[in-house]
Amino acid sequence: MTQSAIIAECLDCGHQAEYTPTLVSCPACGGQWLEARYDYSRLGSELPRLVQNRPFDLWRYRELLPVSEFNPGLYMGEGGTPLIRAASLGMMLGCPNIFIKDERQGPTASFKDRQAAVSVAALKEAGITEVVLCSTGNVAIAYSAYAARAGIKLWAFITSLVPAEKMREVAIYGTQVVKVTSTYDQAKKVAAEFASQRGLYLERGARSIPSVEAMKTIAFETCEQLTGLLPGGQTGSAAGAAQSAARWAAPDWYFQSVSGGLGPLGVQKGFAELHRMRLIDRIPGMANIQAEGCSPMVKAWKSDREEAEPVVSPRTLIATLATGDPGRTYTLLYQRMKANPLEGALHGGAFESVSDEETFRTIHILAKLEGISVEPAAAVAFAGLIKLVRAGMIAQDDVIVINCTGHTMPIEPTVLGEGWKRDVELPAARAGAEALPAAAADVSEQEGLLAALSRVTDDRFSRVLIVDDTEDARRLIRRILQSQGNYTIQEASNGQSALAMARKDPPDLILLDLMMPEMDGFSVLDALRDDPRTASVPVIVVTAKELTPDEKQRLSGRIHTLMQKGEFLSDDLLEEVQSLVR
Ligand SMILES: *Cc1c(COP(=O)(O)O)cnc(C)c1O
Ligand SMILES: [Zn+2]
Repeated sequence: MTQSAIIAECLDCGHQAEYTPTLVSCPACGGQWLEARYDYSRLGSELPRLVQNRPFDLWRYRELLPVSEFNPGLYMGEGGTPLIRAASLGMMLGCPNIFIKDERQGPTASFKDRQAAVSVAALKEAGITEVVLCSTGNVAIAYSAYAARAGIKLWAFITSLVPAEKMREVAIYGTQVVKVTSTYDQAKKVAAEFASQRGLYLERGARSIPSVEAMKTIAFETCEQLTGLLPGGQTGSAAGAAQSAARWAAPDWYFQSVSGGLGPLGVQKGFAELHRMRLIDRIPGMANIQAEGCSPMVKAWKSDREEAEPVVSPRTLIATLATGDPGRTYTLLYQRMKANPLEGALHGGAFESVSDEETFRTIHILAKLEGISVEPAAAVAFAGLIKLVRAGMIAQDDVIVINCTGHTMPIEPTVLGEGWKRDVELPAARAGAEALPAAAADVSEQEGLLAALSRVTDDRFSRVLIVDDTEDARRLIRRILQSQGNYTIQEASNGQSALAMARKDPPDLILLDLMMPEMDGFSVLDALRDDPRTASVPVIVVTAKELTPDEKQRLSGRIHTLMQKGEFLSDDLLEEVQSLVR
């Protein structure tokens, strides 16, 4: 099903343009912050009926996502995580209505699966085949899994603070891992510079429409699920107040641990859209919890400031939450929470911080009382709940939903072997660098960064041309090549265009299919060998065809290898390629 156009609205000047995945700035003012808008009045009346007979996953809300067509080839059951009542925790805290949105149960075990599933689907639709991102771990893991399915090459810049288990998990999917010895905020700059040098698509978190939109589905699912879980659709303390016609039930509070703030920004937008569509009667209070050693948003909120002052050196063991500079994401959250006009929500919610120790203790509580084992970043939200309950901010009968954001799973070191990541070390900030004029400090930082980046890849990658008329076959071969080493990959879907490309700029290697309509592989090979420009380019034939002795004779001596589909594994093909080109 295709859907009506989605509008991208500029948050600076209000200009509206038609959304496409490659639209990264406002055509009117150049602003970098665009937000998706839909036809809410129509969708408000249609959505409950539309979702009725769809599976419980995030695509049931596809009319409110920036992807024009559901792609079954990428599907891994994303979204649709359970909402679990936390009876023991509720008993202990004296709040019986605590529900855990268990995002550990996504395909890669964190709520970043939503971001990756929707973003990769959007990128795939736009024909993008190479992507750069920077991550505190889980975005890279989730993206890696979906990129593998989509045949998208991924560069993941990961700070050295991220546990080695997570880096290995990223690497196992064939992602190019660049470990940057620096803070997360610095690593983001390195990744952005790398992407711009190479003209590659950069995942921009809260500035990326698919990422924000994906997070909304947590709000959508939560409200649908609560409707079934609460007696008579009753929704906590605010429920008695208004006899509303709303069809879904909103919680009083939504808790999430926060790093850069993409999660809460997207989830808040989801609640706001449901409210605007009159599907819920109010927007919940957002409780955003940070690790004490990196809590710029909490400090700003508590002193009622609209802008957060960056934390230059985060001091927390919880690397997932070590975004020191939340930038405009905080400002947007602040503005939206303050604007929440609804009764029962304290200024739209709260920001709170918890120590690493409180967090680690909470991990034990959750595992031992509820049977739920989480990574530290997820436990931060629960530690925050305990803190806010004790501070008297939560009413006993409030309905509370907590995003249980993630679970870690280790890849054993021996499985990967050696050499699976690149290391980039930024020169340490010199003592007294603060004394330098800001401009001079910036220049030297930029120089260090460029020097470090120049070591990330070789300048020239071998060029491989894949010739195959079926898109699935091209994707498979591209994926095999992408997952190890660096090749510049070109693709041709028929013999004629393959010849044109090869003659224009002869590649280092050609992977050739035999059975193609119009001009088959045999004829392509003849033409290649007859032309002095391409006569010596090595060719590997990859075919599903059973060859007759005659046909084998036609190939013999003129190709490097014959590989029969169904008879080789990916590393066999890689070995052949590597034996021919670097
Ligand atoms: C990314 C992440 C967070 C923080 O989310 P933001 O949207 O970056 O603020 C919290 N917990 C886990 C497990 C995460 O992966
Ligand atoms: Zn604009």
